[in-house]
Amino acid sequence: MSKKVRVRFAPSPTGPLHIGGVRTALFNYLFAKKNGGEFILRIEDTDQNRYVEGAEKYIIDALNWCNIPFDEGPGKEADCGPYRQSERKPMYKKYALKLIEEGKAYYAFDSSESLDTHRKDHEKESKTFIYNWHNRLKLDNSLSMMPEDVKAKIEKGDDYVIRFLTPQDEKIELVDIIRGNMTIDSNILDDKVLFKSDGMPTYHLANIVDDHLMGISHVIRGEEWLPSLALHYQLYKAFEWEVPEFAHLPLIMKPVGKGKLSKRDGDKLGFPVFPLSWKESKGYREEGYFPEAVINFLALLGWNPGTEQEIFSLKDLTELFSLERVNKSGARFDPDKTKWYNQHYLQEKTNYELVPIYKDILKSNNIRVENEALIEKVIGLIKERAVFPSDFYELSDYFFVTPTSYEEKASKKQWKDGTCDIMTSLIEVIKTIDDFSTENTEKIVKQWIGEQELSFGRVMPPLRLVIVGAMKGPHIFDILEVIGKEETIKRIEKAIDYLK
Ligand code: GLU
Repeated sequence: MSKKVRVRFAPSPTGPLHIGGVRTALFNYLFAKKNGGEFILRIEDTDQNRYVEGAEKYIIDALNWCNIPFDEGPGKEADCGPYRQSERKPMYKKYALKLIEEGKAYYAFDSSESLDTHRKDHEKESKTFIYNWHNRLKLDNSLSMMPEDVKAKIEKGDDYVIRFLTPQDEKIELVDIIRGNMTIDSNILDDKVLFKSDGMPTYHLANIVDDHLMGISHVIRGEEWLPSLALHYQLYKAFEWEVPEFAHLPLIMKPVGKGKLSKRDGDKLGFPVFPLSWKESKGYREEGYFPEAVINFLALLGWNPGTEQEIFSLKDLTELFSLERVNKSGARFDPDKTKWYNQHYLQEKTNYELVPIYKDILKSNNIRVENEALIEKVIGLIKERAVFPSDFYELSDYFFVTPTSYEEKASKKQWKDGTCDIMTSLIEVIKTIDDFSTENTEKIVKQWIGEQELSFGRVMPPLRLVIVGAMKGPHIFDILEVIGKEETIKRIEKAIDYLK
């Protein structure tokens, strides 16, 4: 690759970024980093009607949370700024006018009512109305009108749009890194609007002009933009600009059934479709996902390493990523797999790193624990069963609060005649233990069970029941060590009282 790699992520701030948008950003980022290039964020906000307050900040926050920051963009101005199209507005018109001068575009005065009528007439005959070579001379535009009439209309201030004059009878050869070569017959294309009556460029014009002015070498975007590729190629040709390379990423498909992943799928099956929360919709971050997990599962939605490997850090990905290994076919979204990834990255964290997160969770449950070493220890005992840090509390609340009830089914099964006496004697044994470490307590209690010729089944399950309140949790002597001798005795006494 000789040319300097510069790629861009160019979202329209029309709402929160969908997880598919994050994947597009990620693939751009990875491609840039792999090739020592730059990753640019451009905000495509030419459609004022669809502008949503807060969406731009959301996009930036999401990229930063995922650890895929842009090198240039709003707030990180460099030579090619500004990076918001609304701030670039004055520069677009001259490009549209240049095409008119060169006979590659034309003014069109058709009212929306008349276009609607044409559309409806076509629909009646089950046809689609296309504004192009076959009818443009019969419509209301600078090709069908006398030049002086055109001039007069413009001077009078009549509304007009500028349309691209699609060349006739051309075979347009397109190249896509992922999809290979394609040929499109120019006669099936319509004369797309490049410039609107409100003085704003359309997506197509602004996008091409900016990609050119920003020195974009590779356009990596979602498959939904593939139908625009022929027009974009022709615009580059019309301007006599070098065409960047294109890569259209496969769609992200629903977990089940046909079609692309939508917010509704997330609502129905209970998984987030946004990286961060937006209004009432919870994001991956707020659901307790780690950015490493999100990046890892997104990378494999469409890209494959060519091996069985599934775990990739961002660093691994920036070393391995290539557009040649992006698949053509849609990538099915698997919510269970996203959890699997999170569980993996949760286990990768040290217990120490997770202390502040768990401390906050405890606080929100009105439990204040100042002893961080203790929290760290508890995390170590229960972490492997957790998918999210939010699972910690349910898995370990009994370390911090004395049980107030005992699982009914387990009580019936474990609390038999004689259990009260056994537990009472056990208290006496525990009272004699000075070193309350897991190993020592275990050794002494087991020795006592042997001496008394009791079975383990008579002692250990009821002990767990009274300490935990249910038949769950890690090694019981680990739990005893954490809660301490006094609390152990207190819990057994309390249970005897309650269950007798
Ligand atoms: N503004 C377009 C979008 O919202 C950008 C498409 C492109 O990358 O060319 O997705």
